[in-house]
Amino acid sequence: MASDPHTHPSFMAWKEVSSLVGSIRTRSLVARPTTIEQCREALKYCRRNGMTICVRGAGRGYGDLALNDGQALLDMSDMNRILDIDEEKNRITVEAGTRLIDIYRAVHHRLFTLPASPTESHSSVAGAICANVNGKDAWHNGSFAHQVVRLTLLLASGETLDIDRSHELFTAVVGGIGLLGVIVDATLQLRPIPSPYVEIDRIPVPDVDALLETMARIEKSHDAAVVWVDAYARGPRVGRSVIHAAKWLARKETESQRRQALEAGYERLERHRHFGLALHEKFGPVLSLMLQGQRFMMNSFNRLYYAMCELVSETGHSSNSELFLRFNFEASFTVPPAHLVCGPRGYTVQLSFPRSSARESIIELMRICRSSPCPPVTTILRAHKADDCLISFSEDGYSLNFEFHPKKHQAAASREAVDRLIAATVRRGGKIHLAKDQVLRPEQFYRVYPRYRDLLEIKRQLDPEGLFTSDLARRVGIDPSQNTPRQA
Ligand SMILES: Cc1cc2nc3c(=O)[nH]c(=O)nc-3n(C[C@H](O)[C@H](O)[C@H](O)COP(=O)(O)OP(=O)(O)OC[C@H]3O[C@@H](n4cnc5c(N)ncnc54)[C@H](O)[C@@H]3O)c2cc1C
Repeated sequence: MASDPHTHPSFMAWKEVSSLVGSIRTRSLVARPTTIEQCREALKYCRRNGMTICVRGAGRGYGDLALNDGQALLDMSDMNRILDIDEEKNRITVEAGTRLIDIYRAVHHRLFTLPASPTESHSSVAGAICANVNGKDAWHNGSFAHQVVRLTLLLASGETLDIDRSHELFTAVVGGIGLLGVIVDATLQLRPIPSPYVEIDRIPVPDVDALLETMARIEKSHDAAVVWVDAYARGPRVGRSVIHAAKWLARKETESQRRQALEAGYERLERHRHFGLALHEKFGPVLSLMLQGQRFMMNSFNRLYYAMCELVSETGHSSNSELFLRFNFEASFTVPPAHLVCGPRGYTVQLSFPRSSARESIIELMRICRSSPCPPVTTILRAHKADDCLISFSEDGYSLNFEFHPKKHQAAASREAVDRLIAATVRRGGKIHLAKDQVLRPEQFYRVYPRYRDLLEIKRQLDPEGLFTSDLARRVGIDPSQNTPRQA
């Protein structure tokens, strides 16, 4: 018996869905499939009822790239099985919704790691592929695109394609923000490691020149690094930072000792995650209130943190060994969660700039930040290497990630400062990371990612009815139903 096209399948229901920091609230018809057949069924339902659909992983992007207000969402989080671990080729095959932390649980004790893992360990594999995320090892191991061996893509028509690195669609689907189809499963390349531990060096650097010189050294000697930048430092101290650099350590340990240490590590991460979320529930409004005096508060914190690291470095105790898990993922648990840092009207912006103009870029971007009525609450620098995806944030250079907590009465003026940050980035040939974005306008997007035209051309062939879209696609002017693209 043919089903009624207007009755949605039982695994679909209307729900409120908000962005990670809570500043965007939407309502969508959410499908939560457990099989590829159910994915097909959800797509078919949407096509028949003239609805669009946005594929959603774990919803851990900051902005609106996995939202689709008033339309459908395909939430892949229940398709999360590990399908195969190939220890000869060091590869893992997983369903799209598998979280990165679950891959660590499956392979880390076997002395493998997954490079390019973002700080958010609960990100899904397909979310990481479509946003082409990067980790603290990005200059060394590249972005997530470099780790993908192959994937299965379910098209709007219901057909599937097997796409490996040599396939012509590879560079469009990876980084393609979910606009071409549903990733159903993927095979990732793992890398062997000597132990699950890293040695961490904390290196305070007084200014931008010392920062870039030390980073150039660290990029040769270490495996991963992340830099806390003091965006409030001025004059000769611009670029004052603390570099946290890690290298893998060899350690004599039996497998059972390793498993035990890792199990304790996962439990600690989970505890801190709950603690962070509880903190948000209880103290969100209090922190928001405290951040009304953010210039004074963050300026004092940054000075104190730098002075403390300098002191420790002088006493020769600035290195220690710890689990990589902690180095890579813990910040998303112990540092107050993004909801808290950004507040109800807040957002993040991660922008990149080429190595050749790094010094001038950092000085200019810091000047713009200081001139904003609401300078960033946190500022993080990373090093990157280029990949060839059509929509790719990564390039041979550095990125700065800002978390902004604008005050209500200064929202427009702080947005104007963010526009100046974006303009400076575009002028220097840099990019804005879409996984973190909720501010780009069409004219800015077209200049940052001029290859969007190639992506849309491919989309016209694979998805002629424009089934797959998102709030982000509409906001930046690449939703086919809006007769985009407009002229850049
Ligand atoms: C605390 C924190 C720290 C973070 N740190 C980093 C970092 O270090 N580096 C970094 O790059 N990012 C970072 N992020 C961003 C986050 O890792 C990325 O946004 C990632 O894409 C989130 O994965 P997700 O599964 O939640 O994807 P979602 O947000 O659900 O989706 C991301 C994109 O993928 C698409 N998509 C998801 N699943 C599928 C599928 N099966 N098929 C087709 N399309 C799909 C969606 O449509 C969307 O366009 C961080 C986020 C947080 C909250």
